[in-house]
This record gives sequence, C-alpha cells and structure tokens, in this order.
Amino acid sequence: MANSRYEYVKGFELDDRILPNIWVVVRIDGKGFHKFAKAHDFEKPNDVNALNLMNHAAVTVMEEFRDIVLSYGQSDEYSFIFRREADVYKRRAAKILSYVTSLFTSSYVYNWNVWFPNKKLEYAPSFDGRIVLYPTDQNLRDYLSWRQADVHINNLYNTVFWNLVLKGGMTNQQAENELRGTFSADKNEILFSKFGINYNTIDPMFRKGTILLRKRTQIPNLPNVKRQLIIPLYEDMIRDKFWKEHAEILGKYLPGDHEYEKNEDNDSNKLPELVIRQLEKLNYRTDSNKSVQVAK
Ligand code: ATP
Ligand code: ATP
Ligand code: MG
Ligand code: MG
Repeated sequence: MANSRYEYVKGFELDDRILPNIWVVVRIDGKGFHKFAKAHDFEKPNDVNALNLMNHAAVTVMEEFRDIVLSYGQSDEYSFIFRREADVYKRRAAKILSYVTSLFTSSYVYNWNVWFPNKKLEYAPSFDGRIVLYPTDQNLRDYLSWRQADVHINNLYNTVFWNLVLKGGMTNQQAENELRGTFSADKNEILFSKFGINYNTIDPMFRKGTILLRKRTQIPNLPNVKRQLIIPLYEDMIRDKFWKEHAEILGKYLPGDHEYEKNEDNDSNKLPELVIRQLEKLNYRTDSNKSVQVAK
C-alpha cells in the first residue's frame, strides 16, 4: 500500500485523554489586553461593553459545550468548568482546549459590533488557553474563590486609582504613590471621603465578576414558559450560600431554576441583554423596554 510507508508517523501523536472523574477547568486570557484596551479606548477602570462582549463570547462557548456547568469571567479572562463526567471529544485535552479557545475568540470578534457599534476593531485579538484539573470539590471551590478574590483586589485598587487620576487630577505616578501600602479599609475610605463613593454600591459585575449558569428560567410576562437559558449572576462564590443555592453544580447535574421577577411599576422587567439575545434566538420578540412581549 502506498500509504503504509508513511503511516508510522501517526504513532507520534500521543494520547492526551484527561483523567476520568475530575473537574476540568479551561481558562482563557486575552493576549496583551492592556494594549488592546488602550487601542480601543476602553473606559477605565471598567469598560462595561468590553465585559459584556466577553460574557457574550462565553455564552457562545456554553451553548456549544453542554458539559460546562459554570463559567466565570473577569477582565480579559474566562474560566469554563466542565462537569466531572464530561465525555466530550473523548476527553482529549488538545481538542477541548483548542476548540474552546478558538470558539471564544471567533465569537469575540464576530460579536464585536453588537457591543461596539461605533468602534472599529483595530486588529485581530487572541487568547491563550490552559487546562487545569481539580480532583476535589473543595479544590474547585478554592480555584473559583481565588479568581473571585483576584477581582476584588484588582477592582478596588483600580477604582480608587482611576478616581484619583480622572477626578482627583493626579498623575498616574502620584496616584500610585498615594495607594502604596494602603489596606482595603484605607482604599474604601479614600473613595468615600474624596469622591463620595460607597464601594459596595458600584456595579456588581465590576466587583464580583460574571458567573454564567444554565437555568430553567421563568420569564416575566410568559407565566407558563420555562426555558433553559444561560444566565449571568454576580454573586459571592466564596461563601457557602452560593453553593447551597446552586446545589446542582456540585450535585447530580441538572439545571436549577431561576426566576426573573416582575417589576410591578410597569408590568415588565428589564432582562439582561445576554438573556434577551438568547430569547430572540428562540424566536421570542422583545420590545424596546426589554420586556418579553410576544411569544413565538
Ligand atoms: P497577558 O498577555 O500577559 O495576559 P495583558 O496585557 O492581557 O497581558 P492581563 O493581566 O491579562 O494583562 O490584564 C488585562 C488588562 O486588560 C487589564 O489590566 C486592563 O488594562 C485591560 N482590560 C481588560 N478588560 C478590561 C475592561 N473591561 N475595561 C478596561 N480595561 C480592561
Ligand atoms: P472534525 O471536526 O473531526 O475535524 P471535519 O468535518 O472538520 O471533522 P476533517 O477530517 O477535518 O473533518 O475534514 C475537513 C472536511 O472539510 C473535508 O473532508 C472536506 O469535506 C471539507 N473541506 C475543507 N476544506 C475544503 C475546501 N477548501 N473545499 C471543499 N471542502 C473542504
Ligand atoms: Mg491578558
Ligand atoms: Mg488577564
């Protein structure tokens, strides 16, 4: 056979199947996003559209990979948690990692204009990706706590820093000096006394990062319909409460329930844009007030 002479090279491909029965975490992170944020004039310290675009790309990944039970994003990074039993691509590590990373990246580019309708994408962004395995539930929780604590530390620092620069008229260097050696309490105090900002009232997406969970979701105005949707939450994963309220993540996995409450004033409810986009894909129409108006 003409092929047989060459076929031996196939043996150079090594088996990279991931251990069974273990939490698989894929984390992606934007390459050089400090520069990317500058080139695209991201608002400091937090550009809400840039975060929404990250969330949008993560929803695309979760729609494709049904074994992802939770995703967690902040800044230019996203973590995707695959359930222990996931058998996608026979658990081949390179397949999983490369698909997740490239799908995330292509969705980020594909949906750029949804979140930045008046901004040109100046160059092609890229993301690195890694797989980390966590044997125990506690390891997984500690991993997510670590990422969420990171958001808190960075965001508190950045919030004070940019207020000192943008509202306080300091140079970057002066702001850096002002903050050197300060503790959280000092930073909260500066924010409050100088700028009248109570840190706890700023957008929870900035403070907590974005958690995406699959939930059977009750939509206001559609009382008898529950759809499985990927919904954003901004909760504290460090506390036990989160894991009790969303017991399906560590338990026998079956999406839990979520209800968007009616806003009594106008009989409608502002649903998150990410959720609205999923409903529209399911052919629900939504009105300009972002309430769900008409079933398909
Ligand atoms: P590397 O390639 O090593 O990851 P990097 O420049 O991407 O380098 P990171 O540590 O990943 O560095 O930090 C990402 C940076 O991207 C942040 O420090 C911030 O400057 C910027 N950034 C990301 N998302 C936003 C956002 N939503 N709003 C404003 N700035 C952002
Ligand atoms: P997998 O997801 O396992 O890679 P696949 O459908 O991508 O599955 P491949 O073995 O990668 O399968 O083969 C790629 C297929 O894509 C080819 O068999 C062919 O049908 C199609 N294809 C790729 N490039 C072209 C092209 N330039 N013109 C026409 N068809 C193409
Ligand atoms: Mg980065
Ligand atoms: Mg980063």
